[in-house]
Amino acid sequence: MAFRSVFDVGALRNEFDIAGISLQFIPQVWKHVRQNPSSNLDEVPSLPTAAYLILRTKFKAMTSSLSSAADSKDRLTTKLLIRLQNGSLVEAVVMRYDTRLGKYAGKPRPGGQRSTLCISSQVGCKMACKFCATGTMGFKNNLSCGEIIEQLVHAFQFSDIRNIVFMGMGEPLNNYTAVVEAIKIMTGPPFQLSPRRITVSTVGIIHCINKFHDDLPGINLAVSLHASDQEIRCQIMPAARAFPLPRLMESLQNYQKKSHQKIFIEYIMLHGVNDLEQHAHQLGKLLQTLEVVVNLIPFNPIGSSSSFKTSTKDDVKRFQQVLRGTYSIRTTVRQQMGEDIAGACGQLVVDVSRPMSAGSVGLLSDIEDLHM
Ligand code: SF4
Repeated sequence: MAFRSVFDVGALRNEFDIAGISLQFIPQVWKHVRQNPSSNLDEVPSLPTAAYLILRTKFKAMTSSLSSAADSKDRLTTKLLIRLQNGSLVEAVVMRYDTRLGKYAGKPRPGGQRSTLCISSQVGCKMACKFCATGTMGFKNNLSCGEIIEQLVHAFQFSDIRNIVFMGMGEPLNNYTAVVEAIKIMTGPPFQLSPRRITVSTVGIIHCINKFHDDLPGINLAVSLHASDQEIRCQIMPAARAFPLPRLMESLQNYQKKSHQKIFIEYIMLHGVNDLEQHAHQLGKLLQTLEVVVNLIPFNPIGSSSSFKTSTKDDVKRFQQVLRGTYSIRTTVRQQMGEDIAGACGQLVVDVSRPMSAGSVGLLSDIEDLHM
């Protein structure tokens, strides 16, 4: 029988419940594992005797192991390749920022180094977006809640993680229950991450967006829109056929009415496909009644087989100017980090043949900057 992760909260709660053990001991187990991921569960201090028996026979501190870690040349990005218990590999990317290097209101920013972890929720992905490396893998399996949290525990060995973005492999809302459970663990003891610093990115799974705020109040929602026209959307994101744009926009309106939170809109810039001035006006009109931050993402060519081309800098700038100038929409352009280690957006695909000792990086806009 495969052992469960101690972070598979449903299974652990169930076992403790049956044995009459207080659930208050669970964060104590997690705290020990977070600090000592390679330790034996017998070493968790001060648990009831019955808890040790359960932990020893049914659970493991960590069910996954770190297969490799590749630093980019500038050491700002580290790509972690993690082997799951079933042998599958997933990737998580640590991105570091030093706030002191940025200027805020003309002065160096307060704070210091902080990191964002880009986390995976599935092995592969069903959505098959045409511009995405992960989409080319097809879907293999959902990650359990424990396997999602274990990525965070591995990442803590490299950096003090303050922000989480569910923008790695997989469509998080297609693995809704595990993602919700994992986020509840992240925001509780011992991790205590602020909900404001966690962002879930989706292609727009409408029935999940409709319950997202009730299940995860305070968590940020990012929508990979990528086109303001249903036909273009379906061309580049075949799964969008199941989520017609008018229904998606209605669901975002309802989400914002309930949550009063701004929505992050991701828009990959594909030369000649969705980056023309008319597309910018169409997008501006579509988003005019929402409070959004648009993040324009210059396309990362995935090998020579990709039929898409990167938009020119001038096209990106013009697009941004239309959204800002005509529609007063806050619009940022994502910097790319980690391209040399295939750790940039749309590049998370397990490729063990790719050299893991790395070269130089650039990265995502810091999600904290977006929140200011
Ligand atoms: S962009 Fe996201 S949703 Fe689309 S195939 Fe890639 S991982 Fe899946």
